[in-house]
Amino acid sequence: MYDFIVVGGGISGLVSTYWLKKGGLDICVIEKEEYVGGSIKTIKKNGFLVELGPNTVLDNSPYLKEIVEGLSLEKSLIYAKKINKKRYIYKEGKLLPLPSNPLNFFFSPIFSFSSKLKILREPFVKRVEKEETIAEFTRRRLSEDLLKYAVGPFVSGVYAGDPEKLSVQWATKKIYALERDYGSLIKGAIAKRKGPAPSKGLFSFKKGLYEFVESLSNFVERVFLNTEVEEIIPFKEIYKVIARKGDEKIEQETKGIILTGDSISQGKILKKLDGSCPFSEIPYASVVILGLGFKREEILHPLDGFGFLIPQIYNKPLLGCLFSSSLFDDRVPSNFCLLTAFLGGALHPEVLNLEEREILEYTLKELKPILKIRSNPEFYFIKKWERAIPQYNLGHKKFVDWAKDFEKRFKNIYISGNLLYGISVADCITNASELSLKILKENSK
Ligand SMILES: Cc1cc2nc3c(=O)[nH]c(=O)nc-3n(C[C@H](O)[C@H](O)[C@H](O)COP(=O)(O)OP(=O)(O)OC[C@H]3O[C@@H](n4cnc5c(N)ncnc54)[C@H](O)[C@@H]3O)c2cc1C
Repeated sequence: MYDFIVVGGGISGLVSTYWLKKGGLDICVIEKEEYVGGSIKTIKKNGFLVELGPNTVLDNSPYLKEIVEGLSLEKSLIYAKKINKKRYIYKEGKLLPLPSNPLNFFFSPIFSFSSKLKILREPFVKRVEKEETIAEFTRRRLSEDLLKYAVGPFVSGVYAGDPEKLSVQWATKKIYALERDYGSLIKGAIAKRKGPAPSKGLFSFKKGLYEFVESLSNFVERVFLNTEVEEIIPFKEIYKVIARKGDEKIEQETKGIILTGDSISQGKILKKLDGSCPFSEIPYASVVILGLGFKREEILHPLDGFGFLIPQIYNKPLLGCLFSSSLFDDRVPSNFCLLTAFLGGALHPEVLNLEEREILEYTLKELKPILKIRSNPEFYFIKKWERAIPQYNLGHKKFVDWAKDFEKRFKNIYISGNLLYGISVADCITNASELSLKILKENSK
């Protein structure tokens, strides 16, 4: 019998298992696909290293350093070049750099004069009690212009989501906390600057983010692939986990379980334990990722930044594009460059139904004039993510409350993964670490 079975071998499941194993528990991971990583997927083809899921991770998890050291991965950890601080916004056919400091903001051609003036009143704007969308919050505290050209595109870049639906309280917790704790975003930002040093920035690994999950999986050792958990049956004081590997039915006994799959997968398992599970209602945004390799000389834009985002007002299925080969060295053959375009999202789910050829044609039609590209790519790779990112929309608290109540009623079953408390890889690392450390503490009593 296991102490814990972790369902799902994405970053959340693997990080949780890492700590439980270090803490001396008898554990295993059950993963339905033939590979670990979940949304983290790196491919190497024709000398190009392409991330088909997350490209970079913000180094703001307090657990990252210890895990990297525990896996002896220090020499593989790499940080994005300083150039990544420059981010472009698409406006009327052109790419304009987003201001990187308050002074630049006042001189930026992106924002109107009135929105520059409006920002001066931000410290005096009152809080409201009701739960707001990111759009409502931005209009109230800042301006329509900032929503259009900064916050909206940011929401696209992170959530592939709709700012008119996402809850500011759940989707952008840190921003919401600035208002709650300091009464103002500007006052909060100034106060935070006096705090601990900011993170070192965006990281990856020499062989891409898959190197991290592969190393975690090797450490965990007992990872069962191609095996889908279908049911959990309470049995005396413990649980029976019923899984399927092809035609074979597998039954394992365990004292505890951590669930990390998406909401449909967790919802199916949980509904058999408690018919009221509402997880199937959690909305997801789909995303299509398109990696494009060009001869460097064929792109006239300097590609001197992280990439660009397209505001939702242009109603384009292309959400933005990363200048991937400008961020890390050794990811493309010499004299080549790599772009990663992302399309679709909550506002353009139709992209998912396009043929690969149509996606490529459409993307090139958009990118060529923006980046002054003179030829077709030498290489491309497309990945469609149907349920890419859970959307923490207005009312998200209902799902969090249900999960908390369920965990009280079913001792030692934990609901984890990215569906409730944070979607970034760094949030997943933090939340999975905190959960496991809490479990270890309770087990040592
Ligand atoms: C295209 C894309 C781009 C992104 N870009 C970024 C980025 O740049 N930076 C960033 O920080 N974040 C980014 N994210 C978000 C981040 O990658 C994810 O939120 C995070 O990786 C989720 O990890 P997870 O382990 O919680 O879930 P997942 O990665 O979804 O892993 C869950 C695992 O559970 C398995 N599973 C599900 N059900 C079962 C079952 N019944 N039995 C067994 N196994 C099961 C699945 O196969 C999967 O492997 C991106 C996400 C996507 C999709």
